Amino acid sequence: MASSVVELSAATQLEIARLENTDLRAQLTAARSEILNLKKVAGTGAKSSSILERCQTTTTKLLEYIDARPDVNGSVLKSNPAEAMQVFDGVDKILLDCDGVVFSNQTSIPKSPEIIAHFMNSGKEVFFVTNSSHRSRLEMCDKLRKQLNNPKLQPSQMVPSCYAAASHIKQWLPHNKKVYVIGGQGIVDELALVGIETVGGPARVDDKTALDEDDIEDYVLDKDVACVLIGTCMEVNFRMIAEASMYLENKNIALISTNQDEYDIMPSGRHVPDAGVIVRAVEVASNRKALNCGKPSDNLFQLLKREKGVSKDNAVMVGDRINTDIAFGQMHGLRTVLVLSGCTPAETVLECLEGKGQDGIELEHVIPYLGYGLEGEEENLGRKKRRRLALSNAAARE
Ligand SMILES: [Mg+2]
Repeated sequence: MASSVVELSAATQLEIARLENTDLRAQLTAARSEILNLKKVAGTGAKSSSILERCQTTTTKLLEYIDARPDVNGSVLKSNPAEAMQVFDGVDKILLDCDGVVFSNQTSIPKSPEIIAHFMNSGKEVFFVTNSSHRSRLEMCDKLRKQLNNPKLQPSQMVPSCYAAASHIKQWLPHNKKVYVIGGQGIVDELALVGIETVGGPARVDDKTALDEDDIEDYVLDKDVACVLIGTCMEVNFRMIAEASMYLENKNIALISTNQDEYDIMPSGRHVPDAGVIVRAVEVASNRKALNCGKPSDNLFQLLKREKGVSKDNAVMVGDRINTDIAFGQMHGLRTVLVLSGCTPAETVLECLEGKGQDGIELEHVIPYLGYGLEGEEENLGRKKRRRLALSNAAARE
């Protein structure tokens, strides 16, 4: 018996996909124009110009790709502003990664201050969930208030990985035990706030950077250390790796990381080694495996659930990195949005679209940059305002 289902030929399916993507191509062209406009406003010498340059390059590559590969579904790319804004509909908690989403190094990403203020004024809760560990919540809040020109921001909205690690360690570290730290002042400060004393920490000028074999043999360990915690440390040296490894010979001493990002990215596109590099060095030297407290770990999700009421039904995770931000959202059932203003190049986005992404991570929504949707919102508001005006004019005439 013949099947009642009409089977489309491969050529027809390809043609349908091409037609569907035609609209997407138009949207991507519009996205590229919008970025060009913003670049003009920023001025060619401005640092924000190079961020937009990166967005433009990525968007252009995606456009070319969709032109060449109509069989790949590009519908995850939300490339007109109104569509980009819709990805935030229906959620009341917005989790924002910072570097590459809100700012890039010291430069705000264009429109991010405006859209964050817009979210907050609309009654949405905004949390800054970063794998960065060198600033405490207080310091981070101070920086973001200035950078985003937003005095309403509160320390309770800040969730740096040093806080996540301190919060985790506090739950099990025995009283009067200490933490050996490779990392910055933010880690030391957050541990101090929960009453935990540290050893090591930010490098001092008079610290030895090298240990020889005799030093290792004679080394006196602090008997109260019960945990080694590793975060980003730009002054990391051989002594620190050796000390951490010596502590970890004792299997009762825990190995924790604030985050395991391999690298960070500068506005120019240059890479800076991050905590993951130090974590790997200590793991290899000690033959141990670190427990992660940053994205994409469950430890962080439990903290957000416990303290901020985050659940899979009420939150969206916005990030520029697939193996931390998007993986975190996907692993915990949150809506996810990838922005193209950070460290993920077009090639990686394309691999994901073709199902060859990192660890099988799927992209749900991709937008050029966080504030891109504000254009759509302004258009919508303008349309509503014009409609209200027309209605009131009509009422006045009657
Ligand atoms: Mg980032």
